[in-house]
Amino acid sequence: MATVDHLIIGSGINALVAAAMLSRKGDSVLMIEREDRIGGCMYTSDQVTLPGFHHDVMAATFVLFLTGPAHEALGSDLAKHGLEFCHSPHPTAVLRPNGTALTLSMDRDSNVSTFNSSSPGDGDQHGADVGGVEQDAAFLFALLGQPLWSRKTALLLAKQAWKRGLGPLKTWFGEALEPTRGWLETRYQSADVQALWAPWVLHVGLTPEASYSGQMTRVIAFALEAAGAPVVKGGAGQAAAAFASLIQANGGEIRTGVEATSILTEGGKAIGLRTAQGEKLLARNVIASTAPGQLYDDLLKAEALPEPTRKFRHGRGNFQLHYALDGPIEWDAEGLDDVALIHLADGIDSVSKSSNEAERGMLPETPTICVGQPHRLDPTRCPEGKAILWLQIPDAPRVIKGDAAGQIQTTPDWTEQMREAYADRIESILKRHIRNWDDIRLERRAYSPADLESMNINLVGGDPYGGACTMDQFFVWRPYAMQSNNATPIKGLYHIGASTHPGPGLGGGSGFNIAKGLGA
Ligand SMILES: Cc1cc2nc3c(=O)[nH]c(=O)nc-3n(C[C@H](O)[C@H](O)[C@H](O)COP(=O)(O)OP(=O)(O)OC[C@H]3O[C@@H](n4cnc5c(N)ncnc54)[C@H](O)[C@@H]3O)c2cc1C
Repeated sequence: MATVDHLIIGSGINALVAAAMLSRKGDSVLMIEREDRIGGCMYTSDQVTLPGFHHDVMAATFVLFLTGPAHEALGSDLAKHGLEFCHSPHPTAVLRPNGTALTLSMDRDSNVSTFNSSSPGDGDQHGADVGGVEQDAAFLFALLGQPLWSRKTALLLAKQAWKRGLGPLKTWFGEALEPTRGWLETRYQSADVQALWAPWVLHVGLTPEASYSGQMTRVIAFALEAAGAPVVKGGAGQAAAAFASLIQANGGEIRTGVEATSILTEGGKAIGLRTAQGEKLLARNVIASTAPGQLYDDLLKAEALPEPTRKFRHGRGNFQLHYALDGPIEWDAEGLDDVALIHLADGIDSVSKSSNEAERGMLPETPTICVGQPHRLDPTRCPEGKAILWLQIPDAPRVIKGDAAGQIQTTPDWTEQMREAYADRIESILKRHIRNWDDIRLERRAYSPADLESMNINLVGGDPYGGACTMDQFFVWRPYAMQSNNATPIKGLYHIGASTHPGPGLGGGSGFNIAKGLGA
């Protein structure tokens, strides 16, 4: 039986990045995926609402990929294999319950003046905040991306201490730990500006009160202003297709419908895996893009492993809602027509309330809603003159204890009835802001956290971010405090994916890091 250089479990963004880089290096790569399609959270389908309407069922926005090192390494190769991005000059906006909207453009001067007219000084503060991220970009993005338990990071920190001085470096870290609530409440007067940024904290798996969330939200503000909120032409599934074409052109092999069920070891080293189909696959290295529970409790169950592997915590669940619409959306508020992602939220308190309710197992009374208009960036997504909406609700309980509004009858597990009742709640908030809603609404499709997990086993309990992203499970401590980068207690077995540093999102950072670590 042939032994490949790298056997990769899973085919999400990180696995694809690793496979593309390692196969380009000339190594033999075999990637296996348990579903009948590759891409993990990158999945586009025209079977969601109506024929001709193409929906990104899960992930849609590629700002993290475009601004990350994986794109720098693979972008031009992927473009030759069909990857194309579509942009809007207006990446994001907030629409508050009182009908006021605030839109971000990709032009800093224009944002400074818009925010200053919302409240004098807020624009200048915005300039200082995103300017600060820009100034610190090399340091900050190294911490947010590169393998942290390394000589390289020790040198980076030493260099910063020398350049800034130890005291100022201590101050820098102290300020970086500030929560989003603290940052927004002490720097911005305008409730609209606060409401524009507060919901973004949810997209990094945090809440407004979480430590380090202020820094993460500022990084997002910087990235959105600089790179927008791009989608892939034809849908996120096309990104997976471009990766597959590149990997196969490099000589790599991809097999779908093949599930890894155990990792084979010999003398404390991984030598391959066994599949659900009973096949034995051999490899020099095994790279697992799975949740920690599956890796340590299932795939490695025959191994004696250190105790702390059982302590990993998953985060809140995610709820998705898709619409097929019969015509253009007439928003009540001005300036929203071409915005890529609009949050329906009232501000820090409303975001805090909905995330806290979801954390406590309650269906939020007023969920924070993110509305994407992908067809405005990429008209190929639906028939001419029609429209689609992609709604992400980052606050949904994994195990349900009740309804914060006291209206929906709940059971601990998601049922179809609860999913549709929660979708009704979300729709009733959305339709208040759209003049022609009843005329254009054609079809909707909701996905509960349980539905998401059924499409991707890594989304445990519908957690879209591969585990809680609080400080204790982030940076050098992801997924476990004892973890060193992508290494596992088994030699030749590496752990990548959203549950590992640098965490979730479509950046492909852990796939990039492992490929580099293995010589790509
Ligand atoms: C609904 C939703 C919306 C999101 N929106 C965005 C967004 O717009 N922008 C963004 O940047 N991020 C977004 N995210 C987060 C982002 O998509 C994920 O963090 C990221 O895609 C995870 O990538 P991954 O490499 O960890 O693998 P995943 O995409 O999780 O894929 C893992 C794959 O491994 C396979 N697998 C697991 N176990 C096995 C096994 N034993 N054998 C074989 N195959 C196996 C699974 O079937 C799956 O296909 C979203 C997430 C969700 C769920």
